[in-house]
Amino acid sequence: MINETMAGLGRKRSSIRELFEYGKQQAALVGTENVYDFSLGNPSIPAPPEVDEAIISAVRDLDSISVHGYTSAAGNPALREMVTADLNKRYGTNLTSFNIFFTCGAAPSLVSVVKALAVEGSEFIAQAPFFPEYTTFVNYNGGKLVVVPPDYPDFQINLAGMEAAINEHTQGVIINSPNNPTGVIYSEETLKKLAALLTEKEKEYGHPIYIISDEPYRELVYDNAFVPFMPSIYHDTIVCYSFSKALSVPGERIGYALVADTCTDELAVMDAIVGAARVIGHVCAPSLQQRVVGLCAGVRPDMEAYDKNRLRLYNALSEYGYTCVKPQGAFYLFVKAPGDDANAFSEEAKKRNLLIVSGESFGCPDYFRISTCVAPDMIERALPHFEALMEEYR
Ligand code: PLP
Repeated sequence: MINETMAGLGRKRSSIRELFEYGKQQAALVGTENVYDFSLGNPSIPAPPEVDEAIISAVRDLDSISVHGYTSAAGNPALREMVTADLNKRYGTNLTSFNIFFTCGAAPSLVSVVKALAVEGSEFIAQAPFFPEYTTFVNYNGGKLVVVPPDYPDFQINLAGMEAAINEHTQGVIINSPNNPTGVIYSEETLKKLAALLTEKEKEYGHPIYIISDEPYRELVYDNAFVPFMPSIYHDTIVCYSFSKALSVPGERIGYALVADTCTDELAVMDAIVGAARVIGHVCAPSLQQRVVGLCAGVRPDMEAYDKNRLRLYNALSEYGYTCVKPQGAFYLFVKAPGDDANAFSEEAKKRNLLIVSGESFGCPDYFRISTCVAPDMIERALPHFEALMEEYR
């Protein structure tokens, strides 16, 4: 006997992965140069030189046992301190190593936080469009995901929708800014309004309502845009961070959960995260990568290549008649599907080996996502197909 629910999850790949696998099959049939794969958000710029240097010097100069050995579950305290020191410098906070728990990326950080907060009947709110894996992370870890409709067409926070969704069962609100898939950065003004709403609701229901701020794209911004730091805006904030995109190391699996020092029951919340991580088999984040991110805490990605792709795609698609919000961060475009049915449009695009992700699993079935972290020459080869597709729909 096996757990059929888990087998079902294993069998059904995410629609993004499905498309990516399809792209590989097609490439074998028609040639890589004839497949235009905009499916995955896999960083396409190399890791900054500081990352490679940190790895090389660690294995060359340090004691092998300490470089590769187990650390405490939360991670090496000195390296956690280096990460919080960088945050304190940037945001004027007073965080210490005790506020940070190194995880194997944002995904397990989110799972641990949800599991830590979920009690009988707990609800967690996310606003569409949202990272599709939230559904799995929340619904299989003791919570229920409640989806708030999008704030069209700007994709800021739908405050009225949030207000309507919050009730006595609400334990957390998951936000993601810069956002995957829209690239929108939630403005300080909107976030302050959300904070005020949650503070009011905490009083009404008599328990904390945490903001779970999922931030893999915090450092990926254009035109020097500022990403407000949620712990400075709302007391009950838990940040789920990832270095995957910022340092182009998604396969190295390193991130953290950060419990703001202003959180209600701060120590108990951290204990619960440590316990939840233990339940999902966390022992420690990779030791070598803890060292890398500690040493590279102040390193920011070189956004030039992503910015060129963003502008090339945004400008060209706008010229062809597509509409989408201009991304301020991350590396995606979220585009209104001609015909208002993104599944149908994505299937039509597939006939041209143009692989774009329907927004359905993000909670917006009339939009599609394209990743802009791709090779510039592929963009050039793909653009005539985007133009022709729009013509077909006119
Ligand atoms: N959250 C969002 C919004 C993401 O886009 C991703 C990855 O694409 C993750 C979480 C998971 O990131 P990680 O690779 O750190 O687990």
